[in-house]
Amino acid sequence: MIRNYRDLSRLQMEKVDKENTIILIPLGALEQHGNQAPLGTDDIIAEAMVRHVVDRFREIGREDFPMLIFPVIPVGLSTEHKNFCGSITFRPETYYHILYDICESISRHGFKKIAFLICHGGNAPVVQVLSREVRADLGLMAFVISSGAFSRPEVKATISEGNIHDFHGGEMETSMVMAVDESLVDLSVSEAGEPTSFVGLKKLAPYGGCTISWMSEDWKTQEGKPIGIGGNPKGANAEKGETILKVSAEEIVDGLLEISQFKL
Ligand SMILES: [Zn+2]
Repeated sequence: MIRNYRDLSRLQMEKVDKENTIILIPLGALEQHGNQAPLGTDDIIAEAMVRHVVDRFREIGREDFPMLIFPVIPVGLSTEHKNFCGSITFRPETYYHILYDICESISRHGFKKIAFLICHGGNAPVVQVLSREVRADLGLMAFVISSGAFSRPEVKATISEGNIHDFHGGEMETSMVMAVDESLVDLSVSEAGEPTSFVGLKKLAPYGGCTISWMSEDWKTQEGKPIGIGGNPKGANAEKGETILKVSAEEIVDGLLEISQFKL
């Protein structure tokens, strides 16, 4: 059965099947997402994604799926955005220890499976290191799931033609926030950003086989002003956001079903 971790009483928690229940921990961030979208974009997306995941389990008749949903961790590792107003970040070691302590507590109560839902890419490196450490130290199976199904054709189709750099704070993320609450987005002030230093290079890119850890300042407007987002949010709308959330939730649920079956 799918429930929110925080809704259970101690007595109810004592009765949970610890061997088979997955604890899903959504990892958000509180950081700038351009002129047009809120600082809490990743937290808002994380909450919406979890709602869609629950809907998807209902749709496939698996309300019985053994999962407890942890509250969204609202701040993450946002070093790359720290120089832009409003961004909040843990230091990597702080973030690592916070997540480690949560894992240790969960493990103490007998749970065997945790799944981190990455709703901000900057959190991923720490979580990948952590997931191996808690497996080795605590015997905890800590799975890592990406929240956005960005390779699915239905999701790619939401990006406007010519918007080739869509990424952080771009059309897709802005659309997802609009699917939740359009009043949180102001497209009239949006400005597009691209990784100007990398444009024209074939191998060296912000992501991929040959890269450098980028900072938000690397993403600039065509006039060269640091804007800290990738892509052009202008074409964002709620309908696109709903599609991205729905399709991504399908992928996440497929992953969770396999996590449930996974045995060492
Ligand atoms: Zn984001």
